[in-house]
Amino acid sequence: MVDAAVLGHRIRHFRTSAELTLDGLGERIGLAGSQLSLIENGHREPKLSHLQAIAEVLGVTSAQLLDPEPPSERSRMELDLQRLQEGASYKRLGLPAVRPTRSMSDDHLRALVGLHRELDRRAREAIATPEQARRDATAIRHRMRQQSNALPEIDELAEEQLRAVGYDGGSLTHRTVSEIAARLGFELVYVTDLPHSTRSVTDLETGRIYLPPASIPGGHGLRSMALQAIAHRLLGHHEPRGYAEFLQQRLEINYFAAATLMPRSRAVDYLKRAKKERNLAVEDFRDAFGVTHETAAMRFTNLATTHLDLRVHFLRVQEDGALSRVYENDGIPVPVDASGHAEGQLVCRKFAARSAFERTSRTTEFYQYTDTPAGTYWCSTQIGAGHDGEFSISFGVPFDDAKFFRGSQTAFRQVSTCPDERCCARPDDALAGRWRHKSWASARMHQHTLAPLPRGTYPGVDDAELYEFLERHAPEL
Ligand SMILES: [Zn+2]
Repeated sequence: MVDAAVLGHRIRHFRTSAELTLDGLGERIGLAGSQLSLIENGHREPKLSHLQAIAEVLGVTSAQLLDPEPPSERSRMELDLQRLQEGASYKRLGLPAVRPTRSMSDDHLRALVGLHRELDRRAREAIATPEQARRDATAIRHRMRQQSNALPEIDELAEEQLRAVGYDGGSLTHRTVSEIAARLGFELVYVTDLPHSTRSVTDLETGRIYLPPASIPGGHGLRSMALQAIAHRLLGHHEPRGYAEFLQQRLEINYFAAATLMPRSRAVDYLKRAKKERNLAVEDFRDAFGVTHETAAMRFTNLATTHLDLRVHFLRVQEDGALSRVYENDGIPVPVDASGHAEGQLVCRKFAARSAFERTSRTTEFYQYTDTPAGTYWCSTQIGAGHDGEFSISFGVPFDDAKFFRGSQTAFRQVSTCPDERCCARPDDALAGRWRHKSWASARMHQHTLAPLPRGTYPGVDDAELYEFLERHAPEL
């Protein structure tokens, strides 16, 4: 397969070396100069007879003309410029294509080609982001594990905010959240047309935090979202410089929201009392502070090791068995990929996080002991439903600490030998023999890639939609 552009450049190279004009060469092979020009510019491929005639007149072989290499360094740069300008990343910019003319110096051409190559490289780098995102998420998970999943400065910051507005315990009201915002000079505004790619938007100029409508079910989500938006300001976040920083900010605002809804001193008092009574339960903790089961279980992990001397695990698992969120410092074997990334990996089918789905009654917590290669663990699991289907929230501890929890008397026990594939990943030999060549399944698209990719200033957020939204809502000043 001959590249018409390279062939054109080689014909021009040998023609100018032979000191022939387009018309001069055209005359000798019976082709108009304009036709020859189209060939030299790569817009038309020559017929074989013309190619042979050109070779003969220029004193070279057809093979020399058809060589896939550009005839000179200058020619290579011109061809590169042409090719890169036709690429998607340049076309998207809506800029004109620049034709390399003879009067353009080699330096100008080199600079243009260099810029194009860099643009191309960056576009490719953005495509590779899910890979980097997984590495960043893994690094953060390891770091949080080392510090027992606690961010004490944020715990203090949250308690300070609550003190300042005179919070005196109990479930945090929307009103208190508004007061915290007002102290920072922000007004909470509820709208129905938030950009699809955002949870909340803050107008820094006029001091407004836009949130979804106040009437959505599960009002805790709203307090949480408002607190997260407030946290960005309190923690002095600036535009994230990369995915790792984006994830870190995300972690911190989630932490701040949970630490405000379940303030450290009150939460620790509550849990210590329950531990003493050997009656710890995520569902009680959840109800005492009026938050979701997931928030309560995750918040428990922030306080468990530092304040209650418990090593724990938390798993959020999708109906299909894939991990969507995980924290552990009790050594429970969590599935990870080759790079150490856990989210999206399938959890052992013997774990409570998965066996709980098979229960018919799901209104109460499900308790189970699981023997694993790392020891025996006790787990309490609750099933919930989200926009992406059902999921399970599990919270648990090693066998010796189960006694502090309600449900430690359970008789349910399973044995897991994962990651050994014979545990639950490989089919039963008899079944495999029966069905291997007598079945066919069509795969569903994998949904567990890390979704938010850098697109605008904020990873995952559509800038165009965002600015239109802000313009629509900006108050007259
Ligand atoms: Zn297994």
